[in-house]
Amino acid sequence: MSTYTRILLAADFGENYRYVARRAVDLATRYGAELSLIHVVENIPTGDAGYGPIVPFEIDLTEQLVEAAEKRMTELGEELQVPVERVRVEVGSPKHEIIRVAEENAVDLIVVGSHGRHGIGLLLGSTASSVLHHAKCDVLAVRLKDE
Ligand code: AMP
Repeated sequence: MSTYTRILLAADFGENYRYVARRAVDLATRYGAELSLIHVVENIPTGDAGYGPIVPFEIDLTEQLVEAAEKRMTELGEELQVPVERVRVEVGSPKHEIIRVAEENAVDLIVVGSHGRHGIGLLLGSTASSVLHHAKCDVLAVRLKDE
């Protein structure tokens, strides 16, 4: 019987992240799998605005966001009893970073939340659908009620 040994929970701190987290913890417990957590701080776009030195401010802001994310992720790790070395905060595009970290760590199941998006949201593609389409491992998209 196939089993999961390494599960990666992508936590976004949206309204329903605890619901998604519970599913990941439940699966990790059932399979006796190692659970890891990831949160991705999205890069602030650095367009060439042409009206002054805005880059230092943006770097500073990203650093602050990373610090805040690390604090929340540490708390979430303690709550879910995930050791600190398996709690990751990355900077970049959530879909790319989730897949990169999953591949680097030989993860066999990624757990994300998924909204039942329609129309333009569907065309643009959510993080969940992008991970689902590009991951090399299984992906569990936990259906969330639309907020
Ligand atoms: P979205 O499609 O962007 O609403 O997000 C769907 C799911 O993708 C969330 O429930 C999370 O599991 C994951 N996700 C979205 N953004 C992030 C992020 N910045 N860091 C980690 N996971 C994320």
